[in-house]
Amino acid sequence: MLDILIKNGIVIDGTGAVPKNLDVAIQKGRIVEVAAKISGNALQTIDAKGSFVSPGFIDIQNHSDSYWTLFNQPEQASLLAQGITTIIVGNCGASLAPLLSQESIKGIQKWHSLQGINLNWTSVAEFLQLLSQVSLGVNVGTLIGHSTLRRGLIGDEIRHLSGEEIKVLDKILATGLAEGALGLSMGLIYAHEVNASGNELEILSRNLLKDQKYLSIHLRSEASHILESLNEVIDLSKQTGVAVKISHLKLRGKKNWPLFDQVLDKLEQAYHQGVKISFDVYPYDTSWSVLYTYLPKWAYEGGRDNILSAIASLTNRRKILDYLRQQGHDFGSILVAEASGNQNFVGKTIRQIAENLNVTKEEAMLNIIAATKAQVVVFDHNLSPDQVEKLLASPLSMIATDGSGYSKRMSELIHPRCFGTMPRFLSLIREKKILKWEQAIKKITSEPAKLLGLPDRGRIVPKLAGDIVIFDPQTIAGHTDYTNPDILPEGVEFVLINGKIALDHDRIMNLAGQVIKR
Ligand SMILES: [Zn+2]
Repeated sequence: MLDILIKNGIVIDGTGAVPKNLDVAIQKGRIVEVAAKISGNALQTIDAKGSFVSPGFIDIQNHSDSYWTLFNQPEQASLLAQGITTIIVGNCGASLAPLLSQESIKGIQKWHSLQGINLNWTSVAEFLQLLSQVSLGVNVGTLIGHSTLRRGLIGDEIRHLSGEEIKVLDKILATGLAEGALGLSMGLIYAHEVNASGNELEILSRNLLKDQKYLSIHLRSEASHILESLNEVIDLSKQTGVAVKISHLKLRGKKNWPLFDQVLDKLEQAYHQGVKISFDVYPYDTSWSVLYTYLPKWAYEGGRDNILSAIASLTNRRKILDYLRQQGHDFGSILVAEASGNQNFVGKTIRQIAENLNVTKEEAMLNIIAATKAQVVVFDHNLSPDQVEKLLASPLSMIATDGSGYSKRMSELIHPRCFGTMPRFLSLIREKKILKWEQAIKKITSEPAKLLGLPDRGRIVPKLAGDIVIFDPQTIAGHTDYTNPDILPEGVEFVLINGKIALDHDRIMNLAGQVIKR
């Protein structure tokens, strides 16, 4: 007896092959048969007539750990509702393991308050063990964050590491990878990694070669210095042979948009020269970022205390204001999404706050950073819609939320991508025809599975895990915007995870997620 039989659907198997009318049989958590007509009894039969049957979507760039929702909202409903069956966390340099000391975890405090968090694990093995006891809505795998490693060793110090210290981190990283982490992540723009030397990045990266794991990198610059930043990661990949995936590739700020063709050319050239390079992108033209990253590098590279003292010093404050004015950026339209201890800023633009405080927009930014002790997250409508579409269609891209899973309404504003990324991407495929369906599905299934080294997921092929999404290609769409970020998407009919029905239309049926290790 089969567990589940999906009949009459149009199967897009994730490999890039053209859609076919096929039935799919599931037993004991796995796909057991994919054929034109499967007969036989099943405990449950789903009639998927007119719908697409695809491998479950893999969100290779996710922050449910650093926003802590993995623990306080483990159903991850906003992701499940998009057809996401697997998420990869530990991105942008910050992971929840390994924790060398209590300082390690501070890498996430730019996104989430550390108050009330109970850390009862140290190693990657212990963290994954603990996670496996949580009833998870989706499968979860983690990378190891470079900032987490560094802060565990040197705390709040912002400096180069000595050769001995690099050796220590090298060993801890190797252990964490052996315990099941899927790769390493770096957030080179952030205060605690800005000072890492090329030598340090290279030594740590070489650990990934052993099991062909990958390096996920938040670039040092996504604005005027993006070309240098790309050179840095391309060189790192060339020198080490490690596969690099650039996180949430984008060009922030209108004045930097003219660099776009050079960005794509550079990546494509590197790829054609054999560099293992790829990137992920989200289908929105608004970024969600930490406000202090708009300051000049010298002001934030010393960490939170330095940011605050730079703002407090009259001379440095003036220098920062001059720098901001020279950027030619429309700071006024930036919307505050989250402001630690200052709920009154949330939902307001910098322009509104500046008017309320009777100061300039640039001054308002510094006042907000000071009031929130630099814990402020903003939406900035600073990406070109046209360029976002080109990135979605690029052969080097995968599509990912760069967001977090939520199951309830939040007091802060969250980016619409947390509820809408995959349906919105697929609605663009239907409406703008930027790719064929099978090419689009490949970017969110077998492509990420291949980079992750998970041959068990990302395709509809016998013996693979039963992670499947059934959706209506005519209606699939995301409906969130910046002030209504938590509306469930439309068109996802069923989600199966590890052979169990996880979602039946808008109802969560089973929490069937597993911890994913390598
Ligand atoms: Zn990032």
